[in-house]
Amino acid sequence: MKALLSGSGLSDTAAAAVVSKIDGAKGRFLFLVDAVLMEMEADPYLLKRVDKAMALSADYEPEDLVALDGSGLSLSRTGHRLRRPAFEALKVMSKAAAAEGLTLLVSSTYRSYGYQENLYARNVAELGALEASRVSAAPGTSQHQLGTVIDFGSITDDFAETKAGRWLDRNAGRFGFSLSFPKGMEELTGYMWESWHYRYIGETAANLQREFFADIQQNLMLFLDQLSRSKDLSAKR
Ligand SMILES: [Zn+2]
Repeated sequence: MKALLSGSGLSDTAAAAVVSKIDGAKGRFLFLVDAVLMEMEADPYLLKRVDKAMALSADYEPEDLVALDGSGLSLSRTGHRLRRPAFEALKVMSKAAAAEGLTLLVSSTYRSYGYQENLYARNVAELGALEASRVSAAPGTSQHQLGTVIDFGSITDDFAETKAGRWLDRNAGRFGFSLSFPKGMEELTGYMWESWHYRYIGETAANLQREFFADIQQNLMLFLDQLSRSKDLSAKR
């Protein structure tokens, strides 16, 4: 496991922190990893690593996209779509938020490769290539193409200090959602802090992320990517 961690692209400090967590709770770690591996086998895109170094193909489009119109969710516009598992989890989470008097406004969801291509080209034209890559993803490298990502609220830094933003920060993990680009992690994730951008990864993976990976999605994704490539492990299973 230590070799896997150091080979996965985690920084030495991050890998050492994970190893010390595992040493204290090995059974729990293996239980969660095993459960997550089964989920990855059943749904290869749920926990697929997608980042600046690992792109989706231009023709990848999820097969279980569901229209959010008419669902009772709070929507910024018509035409939003999400993959079925993310949609179901969002409904449960929105209900829980509503019970506390909060509205989770859905502002951006699934984006096709072609849409991302246009958006990125527009950003490059307006901001230049360097800044465009900090605030948006090149086609194929956006998590939004997975159909499991939601941008909430204003899609600005102010969102973090709203009631909904603070509630999500504390509670999203319970419903299987994970903040993709945390504050101060630009060097690791490649993106500026996005307090509004949550990826659905499932409750088990969210627990694994919180308990063993300092709640940092990118480190979990690097590890799982390495793990799923590991011949040792597939031979063991
Ligand atoms: Zn986003």
